[in-house]
Parts: sequence; C-alpha cells; structure tokens
Amino acid sequence: MQRIKALIRTKPFKIVAYIFLLFISLDLIFPFKVQPNYSTLITDSEGKVLHAFLNNQDKWRMKTELSEITPTLEKAIVYKEDRWFRWHFGVDPFAIIRASIRNVFTGRRTSGASTITMQVVRLLKPQSRTYFNKTIEVLRAFQLEIHYSKDEILQLYLNLVPYGSNIEGIKSASILYFQKSPDILSLAEVMALAIIPNRPTSLRLGINNDFILKERNRWLNKFRQLAVFHHQDIDDALSEPLNVERHQAPKLAPHLSLRLKNEHPAESNIHSTLIRHKQLTIEKIVQNYVSRLYAKNIHNAAVMVINNQTHQVEAYVGSADFNNPLDGGQVDGVRAIRSPGSTLKPLLYATAFDKGTITPKTTINDVPTNFGGFEPENFDKLFHGKITIEYALANSLNIPAVKLLKEISTPVLVDKLKKADFHTVKKNSSKLGLSLILGGCGVTLEELTNLYSSFANEGQFQKSSPLTPDGGIKKELEKSVLGFRFRNWVESSPLGGGGGLSIISPESTYLINQILTQITRPDLPNNYAYTYRMPKIAWKTGTSFGKKDAWSIGYNAKYTVGIWVGNFSGEGVPELSGANIATPLLFDIFNTIDYNSSSKWFKSPENMAMRKVCAESGDVPNEFCVNQITDYYIPSVSKMTLCTHAKYVFVSKDERISYCSHCLPDSGALRKIYPNYAPELVSWFETKHILYASIPPHNPTCERIFQENAPQIVYPVDGSEYILDKNDTQKLMLNAQVRNDVKEIYWYINDKLLRKSKPNTPIFFAPNAGKTKISCSDDKGRNTDIVVKVRWE
Ligand SMILES: [Zn+2]
Ligand SMILES: [Zn+2]
Repeated sequence: MQRIKALIRTKPFKIVAYIFLLFISLDLIFPFKVQPNYSTLITDSEGKVLHAFLNNQDKWRMKTELSEITPTLEKAIVYKEDRWFRWHFGVDPFAIIRASIRNVFTGRRTSGASTITMQVVRLLKPQSRTYFNKTIEVLRAFQLEIHYSKDEILQLYLNLVPYGSNIEGIKSASILYFQKSPDILSLAEVMALAIIPNRPTSLRLGINNDFILKERNRWLNKFRQLAVFHHQDIDDALSEPLNVERHQAPKLAPHLSLRLKNEHPAESNIHSTLIRHKQLTIEKIVQNYVSRLYAKNIHNAAVMVINNQTHQVEAYVGSADFNNPLDGGQVDGVRAIRSPGSTLKPLLYATAFDKGTITPKTTINDVPTNFGGFEPENFDKLFHGKITIEYALANSLNIPAVKLLKEISTPVLVDKLKKADFHTVKKNSSKLGLSLILGGCGVTLEELTNLYSSFANEGQFQKSSPLTPDGGIKKELEKSVLGFRFRNWVESSPLGGGGGLSIISPESTYLINQILTQITRPDLPNNYAYTYRMPKIAWKTGTSFGKKDAWSIGYNAKYTVGIWVGNFSGEGVPELSGANIATPLLFDIFNTIDYNSSSKWFKSPENMAMRKVCAESGDVPNEFCVNQITDYYIPSVSKMTLCTHAKYVFVSKDERISYCSHCLPDSGALRKIYPNYAPELVSWFETKHILYASIPPHNPTCERIFQENAPQIVYPVDGSEYILDKNDTQKLMLNAQVRNDVKEIYWYINDKLLRKSKPNTPIFFAPNAGKTKISCSDDKGRNTDIVVKVRWE
C-alpha cells in the first residue's frame, strides 16, 4: 500500500495521469462518430445478397460482415497496407521514422506511414493534408483504437476503401465485379481487389484489367518472397485470368426487399428467409402465367409461400413485374387490402365444428333466405335444397355460410380473425355484418396465407416471419461511461415470436383439412385433368364480388401457398374466378416447390372419433332412420341430437286426413312416418314445383288450434328497426312461410286487416312511423304477431 501511494506521488506518474485525463476529456468533448452511411442489403436464407439499394448518397457502400472477412482477405490487406496493424496502437512509430528518413533523402512527401487505422480516419473524415490535420488524425486514430477492436477497424477499412466510380468497400466491389460475397473470393480475386484502393482511378476493374493483372501478379510474387501464402496457392493465383466487368446490382425479390428496407431503416444488412431458387422460379412462373392472362385483361398476381414447420416466408412475389409501371408493378399485392370472397369460410366452419352444432354430415338447407334484408345468392345463382355441411363448404355455398355465421354470431368470428392478426378486420370490427363471410371485409394475401398455415399446424396460429430469427435484426445498445462504449448485442424477438396461439382445435382443423382435400368439387380448374397435375393439397378458392379478386390458398404439411390474381386498378373481369384463374397457378407452384411431396398427410388427432348418423340429417339415428352413414364427431363437443328428419303421424285409412291425439277417432287410424321438412324447405319445394311427401290436411272437424304450425313471418324481422327513404316512397315487404295445407293468409297492421294474400307471396305496404304491430293469420285461424319500429328519413 505504502509503495503504491509513493508511486502515485512520483512526477512521471502524475504526468502520465494528466495526459490520460486530458485524452479522456478530449474524447468526451469530441466524440468520434463512426456512422458510415451503408447501402441496404437484403440477403437470402443463406446470407447471399438478393437485393441491394444505393445508400442515400447514391453510392454502393455495402457492409462486409465480420464473418465474411476470411484469413486470406485479412492477410492480403494487412500485409499490403499495414504489416504491424495487429500490434500498434493506431500509429506505427517505425513506419513514421522510415517515412521521415525517406522524406529527408528524397525531398518528397510520401504517405507510407499511414496505418489502416489512420486510413479509416481519413476515409471517414477527409481533410486537406496539413501537419495540423495530421496531428488530429493521429488523435482520432487513438480514439478509434480505444473504442473499437482490431477486427472492427479492419472491417471499417474494408467497407470504406474506394474502388472508383460510386463503388466503395470490398463487398461492393466483390458483388458488382465478381458477383459473389467476399468470403468466397479466390486468392487471385482478393489480390486484384487489394491493390486497387490506393489508385482507384487508374486501376478500374473492367477497364484496366490488363494493368491490374500485371500489378496483381507483381504483388503475388512479392508475397511469395515474404512467404505470406503457400507457394502452390500463389502459383494457382498467378495462372488465374482476370476477365471481369461491372455488373448490375442484384435486384431480386423487389417487393419484400423494399418492404424490409422501409420497416428497418436503421439496418444495413437485413437477413431475409427467402430461398433464392424458389423465389426466382416463382417470380418466373408468375410473370409467364400473367402474360398468358393478358388477353383476358387480367394483369397481376401475387404469391406468398410459407414453410409450415419453420413459419418462415420462403417466397414473396408482390406483382407480376415490378418494373411495369403501367399495371402498377410496384404495388405489393401481398399486402394490398382486398375482398376475401369465400376464403374465410373454412375458419367459420371450423369454429362451428368447435361449437359442436355441426359435424361434416349435418344437413343444412340451401334455399332462398332473407337475413333481415340481406338475401345472399350462390356463385352459380342456384339453390341446392338440403345438403351436408361438407358439401356446403367444398362447394362454397353462400346461404349455408351466412346461416352458420348468424348462428355462431359475427363477433365470434371477428374475434378469431383478430386473434389471427387481420388488421383491417380489427380496425372495422364494429361495422362488420353477416356479409363478412361472403367477402364483405378487407384482408391481405399475407393475412390469409398466415391463417391457412395454422390449418397445417393443428389450428395453432403463428405469424410467419420474413426475417431469420438469429441474424435478422439486431439492436445495438450503447452505453457510454467516461467516453468508453460498452456494447451489448440484443436480439430482437423474431416477428410473431414464441409458440402459436390456438384459434381452432386440432379436431376441427382435421375436419377442415379432410373437406378441403376432396377432389369432387366444382372449384377445380376447367379440364384440370388434362392440363394440370394435381398436387396432394388442401385448398380453398375465392372470388370477390364484381369478379375483382381471384384467390386460391392451399397447403400440405410442409407449405402454405397463397395466390391472388386480379388487377391493381380494381377492374373486374368476367372470366376472373378463384377456380379457373388462381388455382392453376397454385397447382403450378406446388408442383414446382414440392414435386412428389414426401411429406406425410395430417394425422387424425386423438380425440377424433367416428359414429353412425342418419343420412337425412347427420343427427344421431332415431328408430325411423334407416339410411345410416358414418361421420366424424368430436366426443364431448359435438352435439348428440336425436334425428327428427321424420315423424309419426296418425292418418285415416285412405291417408287423406291426419289426426292429433285430441281428435284421434275411436275407430282407429294408421300410424305412418312422414318426412319432417322445415317450413323454408317446404316453401322452396313449392316454388320449384318439387314433389314431396306431405302430411295430409288436418282433420277439419278438429277443434284444437295448432299454434306450433302458425305462419312464420320471415320478413320483417321481429324487434328490428327499419329506416325507409322518404323521397323514394319505399314500401316495407311482408313475407311469411306457412304450412302447405294453408290456402290463404291475412295480414293485419296494428290489429286492422291490411289485406288477404296467397301463401308464400310477399306483399308491400307503406307503414306509418313508429312502433308497428304486424300480424299474420292463416285460414286455419293460426296467428303470429311481431313488432317492428319504422323510421322515415
Ligand atoms: Zn333421421
Ligand atoms: Zn286434431
């Protein structure tokens, strides 16, 4: 202790301490800001440059990563520029002495004393060559050495050295002349690049190749004498020709590249997950495909490919041709907000499977239905009567979908979509109604493809990421204590991050996968068997209202591929359909990226079971259900309702009169099974003149009034409010469904007879404003009342 105190009191120590403190203060007051303005590079999954952007001074200054500085490159540069780089502290005293002696003898000023560190200082802050500036440069060199490792200083040097024209840094030169990254340059190529920086104007690659070759070989021979490299390597390098020219900077995956650049403006090297050969192939396929559609006035398409196992984006094509401004080539179709058509239906059906109200063989009536003024039509303008749920989804029928949505309620589906990160749906959630399921909302191809990827992951939603989790975006945290930087590399969590979010159960997902794999369906492309090889995938098509958007989204265990085809101008085209226009492209892409897929199909989850159901209803068979089929169900979720597709009715021997228990004659009656059709189906049979087995009219002498068979007012809807247009003298439609034994019905407004009408024929009247009681009675005296509110505006 005593000795240390004594040492501190000595004069030399004090001088050193003062100089040190002075330097620290200067370092604090004049910090050296090292922020080279780099070009933005987007790399592929292997770290190779996919797309390069000029920096904001229109220079190519690509950042060489530390991993790209090979021992060969480092040796060549260090031996040529600054042999003692690893040993000195920014300034090489021996070199200064050597240079001074040379200056004295030759009377010329040479810059031989410059270390790599000092060159970095000069490249960062070019100054005129005065003695004062040289002194400042020395101090700056010390600063650099304090704050940066030798590797980082060498990296800075390699990134800043000029190569003539607007090319700076070894990576820019390597990419633009040799079309490869610096880590795979040969020794001959490294040497060619190592000799240029001091004379970037007289040594221009592509222009002075012969001269550069001579200089390269001169240095190679020099290196042989110094034994820097093995002589065999030198011989190989000497025999290598130099035939280079300047190439265009890589411009692949333009849409994703531009997007990543804009999303991460502070990053120079952004590592995407795109797989080069897939991206290239799909860009080509899309361009060729759209050029074939041109005659039909269809000008664009977008594609997104997600790997279902890694959740990484492997291909991303925003338009048919980025460089075609006429058709809006720069618009990113992956992120454009469009109408989804029918593509949200699988999520709806899956949600209903999970609610337990349906199974694949449950039947539903596809007949004209009015949902509070909203009367959807099917794509083919036809109605299919009673069909199964799986048929309804595979055939993308609209009325069953709206019925299901009404049953599970719009907010429940909207909530699922919010969970699956549908931005526009989230924003407009309060305005969305039943038309949502037919495309009445805004989605992007990216959102849809992410959603479908969760069908390949047992219903677990995980947003895909276009960035590699490790090398994607790192945030450099800097702390400064006494002018010294303490650095800490913190990885940002990968986009989407962590595990998945369950949006539907594995069982329900499995049912959807089974239905969307069916081959007997109308949304196959015309003549697909002759033209296309069918990949083993599950897929769903969609066509938006007005034929503006054609969608086809497919998946197997490995990939989810989302396709959109249409015009960015929003122009509809009669030929546009998901089946005929988007699906062929989907098949093409699947056959290209996953030809003869070896991946296994989805396994049935453990809690998935089979049961016998009545083919007429999909419900648990009743004693009269003779036609039974096998169906999937989810134990303890799917409802266990006993089938009511038929019922026993007492009829007279001639089967012309039916009886109830009240009027059953003592002489006895027949007990017969009759189909138990829903009123909406009966009314459809009537309008289509379809024959059906009907229950004979009820015993006319029966005094009991059957309220359960009273007319059903289908429009207006009980308890609703109707706003009518004053200027348009609008009228309110009245419509009721009645039993088939009814010949006439009577409409009452506020208990006053309005008029008599035929069953199943809507009538119109102009109501007064305010609360209105509407009643409908049939000729059997059965009656139904509803109350609505009317406003004239
Ligand atoms: Zn049945
Ligand atoms: Zn009766």
